[in-house]
Amino acid sequence: MLLTISTTYAPATDLGFLLHKNPARMHSFDLSFGKAHVFYPRAESSHCTAALLLDVDPVQLVRGKHGVGFTLDQYVNDRPYVASSLMSVAISQVFGTALSGRCKGKPELAELRIPLVARLAALPCRGGEALLRQLFEPLGYSVTATREPLDPRFPEWGEGPYYTVELAATLRLRDLLDHLYVLVPVLDDDKHYYIGEAEVEKLLKHGEAWLAGHPQREAIVRRYLGYRSALTRQALARLPQDEAAAPDEDEIEDKTAAELPAEKPLRLNDQRLDAVVGELKACGAGRVLDLGCSTGNLLRRLLDDGQFTEIVGVDVSHQALDVAARRLHLDRLPPTKANRIKLLHGSLTYRDRRLAGYDAAAIVEVIEHLDPPRLAALERAVFEAARPKTVVVTTPNREYNTLFAGMQPGQLRHRDHRFEWTRDEFRNWATRVAERFGYQLRLAPIGPEDATHGAPTQMAVFQLG
Ligand code: SAH
Repeated sequence: MLLTISTTYAPATDLGFLLHKNPARMHSFDLSFGKAHVFYPRAESSHCTAALLLDVDPVQLVRGKHGVGFTLDQYVNDRPYVASSLMSVAISQVFGTALSGRCKGKPELAELRIPLVARLAALPCRGGEALLRQLFEPLGYSVTATREPLDPRFPEWGEGPYYTVELAATLRLRDLLDHLYVLVPVLDDDKHYYIGEAEVEKLLKHGEAWLAGHPQREAIVRRYLGYRSALTRQALARLPQDEAAAPDEDEIEDKTAAELPAEKPLRLNDQRLDAVVGELKACGAGRVLDLGCSTGNLLRRLLDDGQFTEIVGVDVSHQALDVAARRLHLDRLPPTKANRIKLLHGSLTYRDRRLAGYDAAAIVEVIEHLDPPRLAALERAVFEAARPKTVVVTTPNREYNTLFAGMQPGQLRHRDHRFEWTRDEFRNWATRVAERFGYQLRLAPIGPEDATHGAPTQMAVFQLG
């Protein structure tokens, strides 16, 4: 069982400090199921690779305390050499300090996001390459997977269930280790030991920074906890409430229904979409993202305008995307149109390589659905990682709410809104984002403007200089 971790961060041999293992020698550890060795196949200042090799003793594995519930088939099965939950045990025991985010020699290193490539040989992907990608891509990895032959001596036997997998991303080493700790056993979908409440604690600890907003969080929790429904429920209930909670069915069918009836006479939704399309056209964008596209109101307008040659709608709600696909008749569009549009399932709070390099992105009535820490994650994922040349953001103007008939003081326009900002609050946020990520900023009102309270919707247009 082999895991290698490589970096090209200069000096790359700093990886030794991060892992607390001197690159100059080999380190061996006795674990309850065999031995672990750490060594460096390559240790140069331009490139450094650390290897964690597990030498699993199947007899020890079955005899040891890990053997609960094991039967004789363990002697002959694949456990000794495939990457599995044993890898997680080894990571926590051998790289415990790195996993906890400490780095004695160079403390500042532990917080640095550096280019890292993890390579796992013989990773069982139960759920196939699709699941592998669904697990790692939302976390910002680019994933390469090669299926291994069942037996290299007999290629005619075909492919086996194992993959050699490479995961590349720029992140903190501790994050990489946390992701592997949780997701390797999830892919293997099998555990070598009894799963009890302690596993819920481990999952929540190692998933703390990323699990709540992961689009596959339910599958991850279920598989990690061996499909034990009581434990799964307990873990899911303890995950921070995510903004991604899917809207209700009735809200999904028509987003305008999610607005207060009072908003309707203004046809505010139309005015908003007109304003956004106007900005996207004016900046000359051809390849555009609609982030938080819901059921596709904006997508439909973009599709009807030939200027937009590549249109990508992204939403965290599968349900909303299904409705969007149906409403846009994606299954029966002529190929010239169908080829221009794509719907992607994803969370905007995660870096996602699929979203990089576009001319423009619209984020219409989405930010107010996010708790502040998630909003900060969205800012980085959009303005730093995806980095479209133009970003158009709209959000309600709270000051205007008093003018809506039937709204109580302090009431928000939608029950899933985490906040609604005054004009000052929105300007402060937008200014900070523009400065931090190097965008020019312009603000504009949308809808009828009241002398005291402003317009019902506010828009920010960010542009790279
Ligand atoms: N832009 C649309 C929908 C706004 S409703 C319109 O103006 O009509 C907000 C949408 O954002 C919902 O569809 C919700 O599923 C989506 N959303 C919320 N949090 C998200 C996240 N983290 N990633 C992606 N989409 C998200």
